[in-house]
Amino acid sequence: MALLQISEPGKSTDPHNRKLTIGIDLGTTNSLVASVISGEAKILEDNNYRLIPSRVLYEQDQILVGNDIPSHAVSIINSVKRLIGKKKDDINANDIALDLADSNDIFIQTPQGFKSPIQVSSDILKKLKKIASDYFGDEIYGAVITVPAYFNEGQRQATKEAAKLAGIDVLRLINEPTAAAYAYGLDTKKEGVFVVYDLGGGTFDISILQFNQGVFEVIATNGNSSLGGDDFDQIIKNYLINKYQLNSQGLEEQAHLNLIAKYIKEKLSSQNTFNETIKFNNQNYQIDISLSEIEESFIPLVDKTIQCVKNALNDANLSIDEIDGVIMVGGSTRMPTIQNHMKQFFNQDLLNDLNPDEVVAIGAARQAFVLSGQAVDDDTLLLDVTPLSLGIETMGDLVERIIPRNSTIPIAKAQEFTTYKDGQTMMKIHVVQGEREKVSENRSLGEFVVKDIPPMPAGAAKIKVTFQVDADSLLTVSAEEQTTGTKTSIEIKPSYSINENEIRKMLEDSFTNAEDDKKFRSLAELIIDANQILELTEKALHNDQQLLSDHEKTTIEKCMNNLKSEITKKNPSKIKQVTDELNNASMSFAQKRMDRSIHSALTGKNINEINK
Ligand code: ADP
Ligand code: MG
Repeated sequence: MALLQISEPGKSTDPHNRKLTIGIDLGTTNSLVASVISGEAKILEDNNYRLIPSRVLYEQDQILVGNDIPSHAVSIINSVKRLIGKKKDDINANDIALDLADSNDIFIQTPQGFKSPIQVSSDILKKLKKIASDYFGDEIYGAVITVPAYFNEGQRQATKEAAKLAGIDVLRLINEPTAAAYAYGLDTKKEGVFVVYDLGGGTFDISILQFNQGVFEVIATNGNSSLGGDDFDQIIKNYLINKYQLNSQGLEEQAHLNLIAKYIKEKLSSQNTFNETIKFNNQNYQIDISLSEIEESFIPLVDKTIQCVKNALNDANLSIDEIDGVIMVGGSTRMPTIQNHMKQFFNQDLLNDLNPDEVVAIGAARQAFVLSGQAVDDDTLLLDVTPLSLGIETMGDLVERIIPRNSTIPIAKAQEFTTYKDGQTMMKIHVVQGEREKVSENRSLGEFVVKDIPPMPAGAAKIKVTFQVDADSLLTVSAEEQTTGTKTSIEIKPSYSINENEIRKMLEDSFTNAEDDKKFRSLAELIIDANQILELTEKALHNDQQLLSDHEKTTIEKCMNNLKSEITKKNPSKIKQVTDELNNASMSFAQKRMDRSIHSALTGKNINEINK
C-alpha cells in the first residue's frame, strides 16, 4: 500500500495553495469571465459560449441566465446595467418596459416577486462565478469587476453590492477602458495618451486615458447611452423589409427580423457579401446583400460616434496627433465600416489584434491576478490614485488636507483635531475635496456633526478624524472623541465622483492662485491667533481685573480695541504688530495670574507633597 502523504503544517501543496482569481466584464449586452491560466489571460467558456448575454429569466421555480434562456422565452430582463445604482427619478420609467413598484427605488416584477437591479445583476454574476468555479473545480478567491468610466459612486457601490450578494469577493472595481489598456499591455510603456473607442450592443463610450508614472488616469469621457450595434441591426432590418417586401407587422416578426439583421450584420464583418436562404414567416427568402450596398446608410451612426470623440478630445484639450494609441473595444468595432473610418479619423493603425468583445475581461483577469499577489512582474501593478486632495474645514475658512492628491489608494489617514472654545460640546466636520486653501474654493463633499464632546477647556478635547479611501475610490470619513473614551464615530459616504474636467480646472486654479492662497492662509491664521488672544484676555479681565492697576488695565483695553479694528482691516503686518503689542501689554498680567494660581495651589501643602 502506498504511503499517505501529509504536508508540512501551514504549507499545503498545490493546487490548494493557489488563489483563483477572475476578471469580470459585466456588460450591458454581454458579460464575460476570464482568468490567468499558466501565465496567460483566457476567457472561460460556458458550454463553448464565450459571451454570456446579460439577460435573466425568472420562472416560478428557476432562474435562467445568458445562454441558458431559450430563444423563444418572453419576459426576459435585458440590459439591467442601465438601471443599477439608479432611482426612478434618474430614469424615464416610460421608456423601459418594466413593472415598477411604488417607491423611488426601481424594482422589476417577476414570477419570483419584485427584483431590484442589484439582485438581477447578482444573478448574472452568480452565473459567471459558477462558470469559473466549475472550470477550476475549486472556490474563487476574488474578482476584479469592470464598470464604465462614467459610473458614479452610487452605481459603483451597487455593482459591489451585487457582487457581494453573488458571494464574490471584489478585489477591485476598475474602469472598462483602463482594463482594455491593461489587456494591451500599455502599462509597460513609459507614458502616453490613449483613446478607448467602445461600441457595444446598445451603448457607445469614448474614454481618453493618460498613462503616467504607472498610473492610468481617465482624462475625458464622452459617449451615447443609446447608440450601439442594435442601431445597425435596425438599419439592416429596414433595408430587408424594403428590399424583400417583408411583412413585419407583429411583435414576433419584428423580433425575428432583429435576429436575422444581427446575423447578417455580423457575417458582413468577415465577408463582403451575404448570400443565404433565410426562413421567415414560413417562407424561404434568398437574401443577397453586399456590404457596399448598405454601408452608406451606416455613415450617420459612424458620424455620431465621431462627434463624441471630438467632444472628448476637446474636453481633454488634445488634438488627434497627440494620441499615442487607439484601442478598439466592443463587439460592434468588428465592423469594417467602423474600423476604416476610425483608422482614417485618427490617422493611425488601431490597436485591434485582441477580440474587441473580450479585451475588457482579459484586462480585468490580468489585474485580478496581480492584485492577488501572484504576478511575478510587479512593474505591471495597476495603481489608482486620488485625483484631488481630501480634507476638512478648520477655523478661519481654511482647509486642512488629510489625504493629499495623487495618494495611491487604498489609503487611510487619521489626524487629531481639537475644540476652539472652552466648553465646546459639538464639532462640525465638513469634508472637502480640492487644492485650494479657502474652503469655499473647494468642492464640498458632505458634513456631519460630532456631538456630546465632554465640556473641556479649549484645545483639550481630542477628536480623531479618519479618512479612508478604498480601492474603488469610495471615501469614508469617521470621527471619534478620544480624551474620555466616549466614542462618537460617524460615517459619511459623500457623492465623490468628479468629472475629469472639473479636476483639471481645480488643479489649474490652484496653480494660478497659489500666491493668493498663501496670503489668504497666513492672514486667516493671524486672525485666528488674534481672536484667540482677544478671547483669553477678555476672560482674564473678567475674572481677575483686581490684579491690575488702572493704568495697566486701560493699556490692555486700548491694545484690544486696536487689535479688533485691525482685524477688520485685514492688513497682515498690522495685525501681527498689534497682536504682539497686546501680548506685551498683558505679559505682566499673565505673570501675576500665574503667580497667584501657583500660590493657591501650594497653600496648605507641605514640601513633600509638592515634590510628588
Ligand atoms: P456590451 O459591451 O454592450 O455588453 P458587446 O461589446 O458584447 O456589448 O457588443 C455587442 C454588440 O456587438 C452586438 O450589437 C453585436 O451584434 C455586435 N457584434 C458582435 N460581433 C460582431 C461582428 N462580428 N460584427 C459586427 N457586430 C458584432
Ligand atoms: Mg462592453
